[in-house]
Amino acid sequence: MNIKQNLQQIKQSCAAAAQRSGRAPEAVKIVAVSKTVDNERIRELADAGHTVFGENWVQEVVAKQAVLGLDLEWHFIGYLQRNKVRQLVGRVALIHSLDRWSLAEEINRCAVKADLEIAVLVQVNVTGEESKSGINPDETQSFLRELAGFPLVRVEGLMTMAPYSVNPEQSRPIFRELRVIRDEARQKLGLKLPHLSMGMSGDYLVAVEEGADIIRVGTAIFGQRTCHLRGV
Ligand SMILES: *Cc1c(COP(=O)(O)O)cnc(C)c1O
Repeated sequence: MNIKQNLQQIKQSCAAAAQRSGRAPEAVKIVAVSKTVDNERIRELADAGHTVFGENWVQEVVAKQAVLGLDLEWHFIGYLQRNKVRQLVGRVALIHSLDRWSLAEEINRCAVKADLEIAVLVQVNVTGEESKSGINPDETQSFLRELAGFPLVRVEGLMTMAPYSVNPEQSRPIFRELRVIRDEARQKLGLKLPHLSMGMSGDYLVAVEEGADIIRVGTAIFGQRTCHLRGV
């Protein structure tokens, strides 16, 4: 498994998909999802010039940064417990998974305490699956409106996860819907919401065609994750 070649291939196909959707080839940021991936393999990509990595667990981000340093751009993409937010302040460029009001309150509290802006995406549960976290599509606008009361919580857009399917076309209507939700919120609330984080290893090309400008790709770069101490 040559991870550099994998990334290169993904970059090329994303550039083509971005152009198919009328955007510049470099419009899409690839977050290399490195959960469970060891530091050597992350370093290999970093040495090849890739700097953006995504992690699901706070402890893992902290441990990896202790070895790899803070120069890389880390994104937090997993379910975030409130009592762990404090540890992320100043460590991550973007939290993709703001999925409930109590978490927004805690992010705001930590931002105020540190006197730092914290950049987030609001996670939307487009399909309403009970097993997935995220704000209901119907409630997304009011959630965004209320977040405006937290000036240090900088909302940069929306994120979603499509249910796993072998056929990426199954994800297309979900990605399209997230974009519609974003566009409506822009219009109604006058927010910029520049980013749409959607698409994983199986469906990132469809996501880019539907307007994703951030994709989160693990397996297609690093290969299959075999196991993890905390499951998943
Ligand atoms: C693990 C994970 C990914 C990457 O999944 P792959 O299928 O390995 O690309 C993307 N987003 C989130 C939120 C994840 O937890």
